[in-house]
Amino acid sequence: MREKTLLVQAGRPDQDTPHQVNPALVRASTVLFPTVEAMQETRQRREAGEQIFSYGVRGTPTTHALEDAVTVLEQGDRTLIYPSGLTAVAVVLLTFARPCDHVAIIDTVYPPVRHLCNDYLASRGVEVSYFAPSPEGMKAVLQPKTRLVLAETPGSGTFEVPDIRALAAMAHENGSLLAVDNTWASGLFFKPLTQGADISIQAATKYICGHSDTMLGTVTVSGAAFMPLFETTTAMGLCASPTDCYDALKGLRTLEVRLRRHEESALRVARWLAGQDTVADVYHPALEGSVGHSIWKRDFTGSSGLFAFSLAPELAARSTALVNTLSHFGIGASWGGFESLALPVKPGPIRTASAWAGPETIIRLHVGLEDTDDLIEDLDRAIRRIST
Ligand SMILES: *Cc1c(COP(=O)(O)O)cnc(C)c1O
Repeated sequence: MREKTLLVQAGRPDQDTPHQVNPALVRASTVLFPTVEAMQETRQRREAGEQIFSYGVRGTPTTHALEDAVTVLEQGDRTLIYPSGLTAVAVVLLTFARPCDHVAIIDTVYPPVRHLCNDYLASRGVEVSYFAPSPEGMKAVLQPKTRLVLAETPGSGTFEVPDIRALAAMAHENGSLLAVDNTWASGLFFKPLTQGADISIQAATKYICGHSDTMLGTVTVSGAAFMPLFETTTAMGLCASPTDCYDALKGLRTLEVRLRRHEESALRVARWLAGQDTVADVYHPALEGSVGHSIWKRDFTGSSGLFAFSLAPELAARSTALVNTLSHFGIGASWGGFESLALPVKPGPIRTASAWAGPETIIRLHVGLEDTDDLIEDLDRAIRRIST
C-alpha cells in the first residue's frame, strides 16, 4: 500500500458487522470486566507493554487507534500519545536522562525545551550540552555518559537541516540514543526512524490535528526504546483525551492533501519574497541555495508551510511593524493549522553553541490554505507601507 492509502486506512478496525467509518470515540475512566480474573489478566498484559484497554489513563481504543495510525505514518514499532508536543519531548528526556547522565541537545531546538533542560533537568543532576546543528558540532559535545541526543529538523526558527543519518551513526557509535523532533515534516515528508534515529517526536498540535484547536504530542520508537518510555508514561499517569485523539485521527486522514497545499503555497510565497529587492534572505529548506537545502533534498520528500525571511538591512528595524501591518496573517504562537501566521523572531540570543550569522530579526511565516494571491498581495502591500 502506498502512503495516501495508508493514511486513509491506518488505525481503522477490521469489522464484518455494519459499522461507521471512523474508529469509535471511546471515553472512559473505569473499564468493566466480567470477572476479577479477567481484569487481573488484562492488567498483567498491560504492564508487560501490550496495547490493551485496561483503564482510562492507559488509553482507550480511540487512543490506541491513533497510536497505530501514527506508527504507520512514522514507520516505527510503537507510538505513545501525550497531552501536548512539549510533554512528548519532556517524557523522552525524563526517561533517558537520569542523574549523572549527559544529554546533548541541538542548538536550534524548540525554545521551551531549553527551559526544561536548563531549569528542570540540570537541577536534578543531568548535565546538558547544546551543539551546533552539524555532525562536527555534535561530535564536540559527546561524552561517554551521553545517554541521549535530541535533534530537530529543520531547526526551530532558522530552518537549518542537520544530517540525521550522520548524527544517528555517531550517537550509536557512542552508545547514545538519537531522538528527533519531526514536527515540521509531520511524519509525511521525513521519517527519522528510517534514517537511523531511535525516537521520533511530533507536536501533533501542528499538522496532524491541523485546525488550531487541539493539543497533542506523539512519540514513535523503533526497537528497545519502547519499554523505558512506556514505564515513565505509566509511572506519571500521562494520558491524552480520547476526544482529542479522535480529532487527531480525523486530521490525519487529510494530512497529505493539506500538507501538499501548504507546501505549494509556501513555496510560491517564498519564491515571490526571494525576488523582492526589499527582502534580504529567505530561509526555506526546499528553496535552491537556502541553508540546509542539500540535506533536505537528500532526505525529505516535501516541505511544509513554515519558513522565514528577513527584510533588506535598511528595512530590518521595521520587521515588527511589517507583521503588525499584515491583514491575512494572524499574530500568535504555534502553527500547522489552516490559517496563515506571521511572527518576528530573534534567533541570535536563544542560541548558546553556535553563532547565528543571519540578521538580528527574521520574520517567520506559516502559510495557510488561503488563496496565495491574497497572501502575496498582503505581503506586498505591507512591505510598501513600511518602506515609505
Ligand atoms: C510546537 C512545537 C512543540 C510543542 O508542541 P505543543 O503541542 O505546542 O506543546 C515541540 N516541538 C516543535 C518543533 C514545535 O513546533
